[in-house]
Amino acid sequence: MSSDIHLHIRNVSKKFGSVDALRDVDLKIERGSFVCLLGPSGCGKTTLLRIIAGFEAATKGQLILDGKDISDQAPHKRGFGMVFQSLALFPHMSVAKNIGYGLKLRGIKGGAQRTRVEELLDVIQLPHIADRPVSALSGGQRQRVAIARALAIRPPLFLLDEPLSALDAKLRDSMQIELRQLQQQFGVTTVLVTHDQHEAMMLADELVVLKDGAVRQSASPSDVYNQPADSFVADFLGAANLIDVGKITGGAVELFGTKIASKPPHGEGVPMLAALRAEHIGLSPVLANNTQPVGQVSFMRDLGPATEFVVNVGGQDLRVRASNENTQGLEMGANVALTFDPAQVSLFKGT
Ligand code: ATP
Repeated sequence: MSSDIHLHIRNVSKKFGSVDALRDVDLKIERGSFVCLLGPSGCGKTTLLRIIAGFEAATKGQLILDGKDISDQAPHKRGFGMVFQSLALFPHMSVAKNIGYGLKLRGIKGGAQRTRVEELLDVIQLPHIADRPVSALSGGQRQRVAIARALAIRPPLFLLDEPLSALDAKLRDSMQIELRQLQQQFGVTTVLVTHDQHEAMMLADELVVLKDGAVRQSASPSDVYNQPADSFVADFLGAANLIDVGKITGGAVELFGTKIASKPPHGEGVPMLAALRAEHIGLSPVLANNTQPVGQVSFMRDLGPATEFVVNVGGQDLRVRASNENTQGLEMGANVALTFDPAQVSLFKGT
């Protein structure tokens, strides 16, 4: 399938004084896709979103929308739909008036506006509260109204900055599903900022991991998870164990006595780190004929369907998350055999 690039963020850099908030960010966003910008605090996520929206000018680089350079276009000319953490709804106005606000600004009034607002109220499943003031709504309802208001104008791009971070965990979870369904229903190209890796995995077609203003990896959630580009990405997405395997000279790379590569991927004598996810390690009692690496359980916590362990293997603490049916009878202090699939180990250059 040929790709249909909707927005090209072309070599965008942004400096605030001496701070490099963005460094040469180059991203091609496909039409209709859901892109999540993910990274730790201060990595430049919000700055990039503000540049896309037009609230901030890039120091270098361009924004190309549908092949046209929009870098100098004012925010209102871009006409993008936006939802921020603060939502910025008008509290005393009714739900219907809030949703209709953007339409009114665009000269869509009367019956046309009413029809569109009704459509949106149906989509967000709140037709019965059209006349209620926003101040009388629950957190989740307000969230839906903010999303409906942004989508009412049929924006070419939908931009969201941490829109769900004020909600409690359960509501946040269900709003993530709703948001994804709405985005698909509207087929609108969407860019969402979050520092929550679980949220990004739930929502994104394309996950962009940023650190210190630079893109470390841009790929599907499963590729970022299974084939992290570097040790930062491996560690940021889920609990990865980063294990120093030292410099390999001559032959295969081994992890706890198990061969994981027939030769060092970055060349002989280069220090290496192995990343192995907590959920990719299996534990079992040590049998008489055991050939697997053995460790000792130094921490256990029952998380319901799974148990979180820390297992000490040759002086190295490993985090292990194993489903309860496989770890019956394992206790604190017990010796355990470890299993893992060498294909699930990623190797990176160490320092
Ligand atoms: P958070 O998750 O904490 O919101 P972020 O990833 O969104 O962080 P940005 O807000 O984009 O990060 O900030 C990136 C860098 O640019 C930070 O070092 C920040 O201090 C700096 N920065 C952002 N806006 C400004 C500004 N208006 N003036 C000066 N420095 C700024």
